[in-house]
Amino acid sequence: ARDPRDELFGHPKGVYVCFFTEMWERFSFYGMKALLLLYLLQHHKFGDRSGLDVLGAYGGLVYCLPVVGGLLADRFLGMRKAVVFGGLLLVCGHAGMAVEGHAASISHGVVARDEGALRVFYLSLALIILGVGFLKPNISTIVGRLYPDNDPRRDSGFSLFYAGINLGALFASLVCGYLGQTLGWKWGFGAAGIGMLLGLAQFLWGQKYLHGHAEPPAPTRLRERVFGLPREWAIYLGSLLALAPIAALMWAVANGRFALAGEVSLALLLMLLVMLAVLAWFAWFITARCTPVQRQQMLAMMAMIFMALVFFTLYEQTYGSWVTFTDRMLTKDVLPALVIRDGTPWPWSTVSLLLAPLAFVASAALSDRRPDSPLPKLLFAGAIVTMLVFLLRDCVVLPQTAGSLTYLGALFLVLLAPMFSGLWGWLDRRNLDPSKPVKSAWGLLFAGLSFIPLGWAAQQAGATGTLASVWWLVLAYLVLEIGEMCLSPVGLAAVTQLSVKSVVSLMMGTWFLATAFSETLAALFGKLAAVDIPEGATLDFADAGGKYADLFWLMMWMGIGWAVLAFIAAPALK
Ligand code: GLN
Repeated sequence: ARDPRDELFGHPKGVYVCFFTEMWERFSFYGMKALLLLYLLQHHKFGDRSGLDVLGAYGGLVYCLPVVGGLLADRFLGMRKAVVFGGLLLVCGHAGMAVEGHAASISHGVVARDEGALRVFYLSLALIILGVGFLKPNISTIVGRLYPDNDPRRDSGFSLFYAGINLGALFASLVCGYLGQTLGWKWGFGAAGIGMLLGLAQFLWGQKYLHGHAEPPAPTRLRERVFGLPREWAIYLGSLLALAPIAALMWAVANGRFALAGEVSLALLLMLLVMLAVLAWFAWFITARCTPVQRQQMLAMMAMIFMALVFFTLYEQTYGSWVTFTDRMLTKDVLPALVIRDGTPWPWSTVSLLLAPLAFVASAALSDRRPDSPLPKLLFAGAIVTMLVFLLRDCVVLPQTAGSLTYLGALFLVLLAPMFSGLWGWLDRRNLDPSKPVKSAWGLLFAGLSFIPLGWAAQQAGATGTLASVWWLVLAYLVLEIGEMCLSPVGLAAVTQLSVKSVVSLMMGTWFLATAFSETLAALFGKLAAVDIPEGATLDFADAGGKYADLFWLMMWMGIGWAVLAFIAAPALK
């Protein structure tokens, strides 16, 4: 039963607890993604290829490990403990990066790889990868648990949660690279650590609002002894031991030890193996352990996970071909954010983002005591609005590079999320709410359509030999993010609703595993538009425009094609 005293703006307070925790987790993930390549290339003098390999392995592993984190939470730890453990790992990882970044800033003029410092670096990456593995799937599962089984607010609740994800992502892509390059690496890396620490403190304080929904499934099993230790501690210790092989893997990737034939790397093979193992387990589970209804639900969910795999293959182009295309073939001086200014403006959003979780804590505590007072709502809404204003300001004021135009995705998402959260509720009240598979099909369709402005821009630039307008890219981001709103939060909600309860975190891990695959596939497709510019030569516009246009049209057809299939299959999935 719903208890209005446990709600803020119509959603359980626990959802906001998850919102801020996940905001900081995503900040740390995307912040690393923004800094990693620059840091390796500029500080440790990596070449493009090995730098990209490290980035790819990091992205792939980050999305593989949630399968393990989900499994351990389902069987033993419960989600709450897994989130706390993951959060601690993340804080340590960022502390490690800050120390390494500090060393970097006092040893100016390093011309070769500093292997000693790099060891700290690989270990920190491993801590972050493992931390995300424990935190990400489980925090998402908790959100689902906060809504009763057929609660119509589930989709809109996940839309809000998704806004939190993207606030973290937006802020990370805006500010991390900027702090790293203006104040020094340690500030870029360290900001994530401080934020995650606050996020974790906020989670520990707010866990009372989870009302026992995220507890271990069988507490006695946690106390049973394995290898002479209580099982809970054995799990933590075992995970810490796993840091060594993960760090070693990152080292090996950085040193080119894992390249097999051509494009096939060991990382890709490993990923395939994990995927096959999960599929085999899934086949066994639905035949041996499910009732017919559960089996149908699990199959429908698998179909949605597949749609997510296709969607994110298109989506990940934003971090690859969209970046190089912007850099090479689009105008630079039209967006206010692209105009380089003198001086180094202070990124005020940093402060507002650190303060927002505190404002939430204050308003939640206040509304516990005085449920009828409008004050808590005002305080909370005020904090969110302040945060948005400062983020928008920083979008315009901080000088951007082509790379950090990726912030546009998260920006549109944050702006669209409240509208979609309202839209699902509005449609539901009129009994018009589309089924989840239909929403996902819309997501694929919009993803496909988002490539039209870019294909057009590529053709234009190629034909005229001049830069095309950067506004095509802005339009593409807007369309793509409408698609993401239709597919991704709805998919998360579907996983929590359709999974058999005892394996829900594992299925959440599988959802993210699909993304691990998408990252690799996206890179493979992206190479279709690889443009070689010989030393001293300028870009051959006709050639490059043609290649980019081919890639973008291919992506467009892929999105539209799968969307049509998904629309046809949707009634059956429903
Ligand atoms: N942008 C989302 C996030 O970071 C999407 C993740 C995914 O499933 N690929 O959570």
